[in-house]
Amino acid sequence: MYEMAKILDVLSDGRLPSRDGLESVLALDDGREARRLFSIADDIRKRHVGEGTLFRGIVEFSSFCGNTCRYCGLNRSNKTLKRYRMPKAGILEAVRDICDSGIGTVVLQSGEDDGLDPLWLKEVIESIKSESDIAVTLCVGEKTRDEYRLWREAGADRYLLKIETSDRALYESLHPGMSYDNRLRCLADLKELGYETGSGIIVGLKGQTVSSLAEDILFLAKWALDMIAIGPFIPHGRTGLSGEAAGDALMTLKVIALTRLVTRKPNIPATTALGEACEDLRFEALRCGANVIMQNFTPERYSLLYDIYPKKRKEAVKAL
Ligand code: SAH
Repeated sequence: MYEMAKILDVLSDGRLPSRDGLESVLALDDGREARRLFSIADDIRKRHVGEGTLFRGIVEFSSFCGNTCRYCGLNRSNKTLKRYRMPKAGILEAVRDICDSGIGTVVLQSGEDDGLDPLWLKEVIESIKSESDIAVTLCVGEKTRDEYRLWREAGADRYLLKIETSDRALYESLHPGMSYDNRLRCLADLKELGYETGSGIIVGLKGQTVSSLAEDILFLAKWALDMIAIGPFIPHGRTGLSGEAAGDALMTLKVIALTRLVTRKPNIPATTALGEACEDLRFEALRCGANVIMQNFTPERYSLLYDIYPKKRKEAVKAL
């Protein structure tokens, strides 16, 4: 595995591998070599973030969204979806469940809800922080620097904003009316404000190449992130990409493994999207570089409506 050996050499010198080197490892289709890559990534994970798996509790508190992301079922053109906002009391109850389960972080996630009152979210964060010392991660999209500051001062610790793809042209084609530069502005603001900052990508987007995935890995490394979320594309029937193939499982695992090799320290979740692939890949991911599991604490009557991509559990409920 010549390319792999070269990449390990470069990394041991503290340098970043080339895009071509990463690309040739991503293109490997030999199962034995992929297993070797996974086992090296697993060793690096143990060395840099330890043996344990971290748990995060996620609360999907609003499904309103003003954005147009072509892969996501929450996009504003999906008029068939019933939208919800959880009341503050319901969020606090879910957070209590998370604490009772011994989990030390809540991820508050929503669509890009234009009706989200920044002062309301500030109060939610303050109430959570006054009840327990749980870490609060926000994942509520592109906002102003002042909003990010307000929530940081209220006690929010971390923020997750995936770049989805670092390829500007592909980003713009998948996000009509949105701005790649604003996404970068948000990431820069979050870092400057002292959030532990996370980003990440989707693997298998229409128009994405292996070369662009290699660039993504370098992008994630250059941003020196604290968290990196990588999941496969899952087609959703009410989006512009409904007829496209799902992201390839092996490719997603290879991107996770290489990202661990290149970035070393960040927390890398075995994303919920990985759990919704044709087979549950989260446990595979934990053996090739990932170290975090996200557990959903959204009450079911809401989580069934948080329809970013089709979920197996939802289908199971429908089938009853
Ligand atoms: N509005 C927030 C949260 C978005 S949903 C934000 O913009 O950050 C959380 C993540 O779900 C997104 O960042 C995206 O990576 C992922 N996602 C959405 N639709 C998807 C799909 N069809 N397949 C795979 N991942 C998807």
